[in-house]
Amino acid sequence: MTLPVIMNTYGRPSITFTHGKGVYLYDTEGNEYLDAISGIGVNALGHAFPAMTQAISEQAGQLIHTSNLYGIERQQKLAESLCAASGMDNIFFGNSGAEANEAAIKIARLYGHNKGVKTPHIIVMENAFHGRTMATITASGNRKVQAGFEPLLSGFIRAPFGDFAALEAIAENNSDVVAVFIEPIQGEGGLHPLPTGFLKQLRALCDQQEWLMMLDEVQTGNGRTGKYFAYQHEDILPDVVATAKGLGNGMPIGACLARGNAAEVLVPGTHGSTYGGNPMVCAAAQVVVDTIKSDQLCDNASNMGNFISEGLRTAFADNPLVKEIRGKGLMIGIELNKPCTELVDIAREKGMLINVTSGNVIRLLPPLIINQQQAQTIIDTITDIVEQLD
Ligand SMILES: *Cc1c(COP(=O)(O)O)cnc(C)c1O
Repeated sequence: MTLPVIMNTYGRPSITFTHGKGVYLYDTEGNEYLDAISGIGVNALGHAFPAMTQAISEQAGQLIHTSNLYGIERQQKLAESLCAASGMDNIFFGNSGAEANEAAIKIARLYGHNKGVKTPHIIVMENAFHGRTMATITASGNRKVQAGFEPLLSGFIRAPFGDFAALEAIAENNSDVVAVFIEPIQGEGGLHPLPTGFLKQLRALCDQQEWLMMLDEVQTGNGRTGKYFAYQHEDILPDVVATAKGLGNGMPIGACLARGNAAEVLVPGTHGSTYGGNPMVCAAAQVVVDTIKSDQLCDNASNMGNFISEGLRTAFADNPLVKEIRGKGLMIGIELNKPCTELVDIAREKGMLINVTSGNVIRLLPPLIINQQQAQTIIDTITDIVEQLD
């Protein structure tokens, strides 16, 4: 038997693309697809965004990598832009969402040890998804990503998502908690937003307990929900924010942003990354951050997101198959009353790329540059395929 040369972690690919432009992708047969999933929330600026192509090409001709043993102008500039966009103080750059989260977890543990907590614990949520490394699968609240990889790490306490009283109870009974780690909207876990006001309550509890408030904004960050970061809807500042996905528009970059005490925890020798924040990825991410600002893409995400959500609510008002439409900005989940993974194939045959998460939730993460006509196409196609389901 000959094994395929790609390890079998994603099943068989259904289709192969040759190129893209804007919100569209083109396959090897020349078919066009409206990309309503953006490489899982990554291609914030769509495909072949001209300023991105230019920045990457120019940077490739100048300098790709030097390591963090030396100063990196582009990294410095990107950090300044991200701190300005977020209200945070400083940043560690890695290469993925999982690495950004690993940095957050290490900051929490070291913060704990620095204040004399011998076995620092981090509160994490049921149904959470934080990545595929050992620490991040431990932090994730999904047995499917953990099973078979035991022993998992110690130092995590699980709480129900969105249940503030549960966090207060943990505060009363555990003296070794040092941080809370949570997604403002659970993405992989089925598109579940936190209740309005929750982050404000959490901020107050963290202040009272001297816990670090740490947010996983790998998926919700970089304009997707209609603000640069989702916590900005609640008018609070966390202590630590991890982001990735949309930040590089496809170039591998992750960032762990910190503020106040949390920003002073990592010192030379405590953490590192050979590639992290190299000139090449920072040139790409700079275009993302600048374009989100100059082209008012947060507003567009908010407007187009509302347009799609409202359009779908109207279309499905009398459809008993549709349980709930939820999310924020261009992070939209449509929960059905029955499993619907086959809709991914059906949508693709109709020229649209979508995703189904948790078995019965259609997930839409279109590029932030989407216009109203394209948004209407999403509404029409989703309406059409869901009606075909029953
Ligand atoms: C995708 C995702 C991750 C993991 O990011 P990788 O870049 O795949 O390591 C972590 N947290 C959340 C919320 C995500 O959506």
